[in-house]
Amino acid sequence: DIEYSDFCRDCEHCFGCVGLKNKEFCIFNKQYSEEEYWNKVDEVKTKMLADGEYGEFFPPEYAVFPYRLTVATSFLGFRDYGTAAKYGYDTALVEESVEETGGEKVNVSELPSDIRDVKDDILEKVIFDEKNSKSFRIIKPELEFCRRYGLPLSREHPSIRMQKWREGFEINLMFYKRTCDRCNKDIETSYAPERKETVYCEQCYQAEVV
Ligand SMILES: [Zn+2]
Repeated sequence: DIEYSDFCRDCEHCFGCVGLKNKEFCIFNKQYSEEEYWNKVDEVKTKMLADGEYGEFFPPEYAVFPYRLTVATSFLGFRDYGTAAKYGYDTALVEESVEETGGEKVNVSELPSDIRDVKDDILEKVIFDEKNSKSFRIIKPELEFCRRYGLPLSREHPSIRMQKWREGFEINLMFYKRTCDRCNKDIETSYAPERKETVYCEQCYQAEVV
């Protein structure tokens, strides 16, 4: 009973809302009475249906960020910029703003490999990632974290780390037909049939795990 909404928790009967908690009868994050809500939602949906919009995803021209910077690109098969452009997404390359930063420069190749050899003054320095030609800083909580777990400082600019992290996910939005590994019922799952994990139907999963 929640439509065209995202990041809403413990909500019921909401339309076009973002980030609400424990709410009901909201449209575009605005609270309505139950009666107002149904009238208003009826009106909106009727108009959307007439315009052929209802059930469709938001139009690309409403996308706030260029396609290449969105989370869509972390999904398997969605890094095809040609196809995205055909659908009307802005797939232009994104120029990064390069801010001049003050402080003594140190190349990543000169960073100590043992965190115990890293001194506190690293927090004042500008670290240069030679491979990616990007500068970054280490912040205090990051240094404390590395010290606590005995980890070396990263050799890569955070944006490169994020990119690798997203690519590593290879989040798959495809659904495959499989049979439950316990009761043999036909199911649809994001686990491809050739994958070796044991996959249960919802009922068997609930019985086994919960
Ligand atoms: Zn089953």
